[in-house]
Amino acid sequence: MQIWFTEDQTDHLRISVRVRQVLRHERSPYQELMVLDTHEFGRMLVLDDVIQTTERDEFTYHEMMAHVPLFAHPQPRRVLVIGGGDGGVLREVLRHPTVEAAHLAEIDRRVVEAARECLPGIHNFDDPRAQVFFTDGIRHVEEHPDTYDVIIVDSTDPVGPAVALFDEPFHRAVFRALRDGGIFVQQSESPFFNQELIRRVQASLRRVFPVSGLYWGVVPTYPGGFWTYSIATKGPDPSRPDEERWQQAGLVTRYYTPAVHRAAFILPPFVAALVERAGASSPR
Ligand code: SAM
Repeated sequence: MQIWFTEDQTDHLRISVRVRQVLRHERSPYQELMVLDTHEFGRMLVLDDVIQTTERDEFTYHEMMAHVPLFAHPQPRRVLVIGGGDGGVLREVLRHPTVEAAHLAEIDRRVVEAARECLPGIHNFDDPRAQVFFTDGIRHVEEHPDTYDVIIVDSTDPVGPAVALFDEPFHRAVFRALRDGGIFVQQSESPFFNQELIRRVQASLRRVFPVSGLYWGVVPTYPGGFWTYSIATKGPDPSRPDEERWQQAGLVTRYYTPAVHRAAFILPPFVAALVERAGASSPR
């Protein structure tokens, strides 16, 4: 007998993955949680029937979420990840020798527990510089003014507790939580299927930050495979990686390089139009 997991990526588009074994299936106070062992993508975290991360393609997303803001910042010491309970973005942040403190604000304790038990290759929660707070990320930023050099939102899609993470009041709280020269990035969904959301986030960032922009990457298990990241800064040009620090760090990566970093800010015209229509300032 074959077992298949199907995600409704839109009302009219589905992706199906053949499952070898269901490793965990439970209802947390916030969402339905599954860890599946799949033939094509290895182990996979699924929340409310939406694929969050997989062993096979997680590096593409986690490297672009962490290394673009951290190499664009001149000296990132204190970093906050909101959401990201699988630990993948935090793991990449912790690879930067400049980082002294890496905090994770995840609303759902059970996601972190599931990652610890079932996804050992994805996280590095036991690094002494890492600290996990089980709290709403919005509350966490409101309570920590002038604290972080980089804030990264690795959230679920804009439903439930993640809705407000895409809104202007949250972006204003993030601005206050960032130190001088701080950088903010959040995953902002597909340029094919979520155009209105991208326009809205870009317009909000433009109102709150002096510099804002959009970059892209490939994540095979996300709808369309073509993914966007919205970025904003208190000054630094986010499209320019610090090549010297990259050389010194000696990171072995599978997706990110400084050349990929710069190229990710070059947008196909249909994506650039989303940014322009939102009136967002260009980082170049
Ligand atoms: N990379 C994934 C994606 O793009 O679909 C997201 C991975 S991560 C597991 C998403 C996490 O965000 C979930 O564990 C969820 O509990 C968390 N989350 C959602 N809203 C949140 C909020 N307001 N504060 C903190 N964490 C939140």
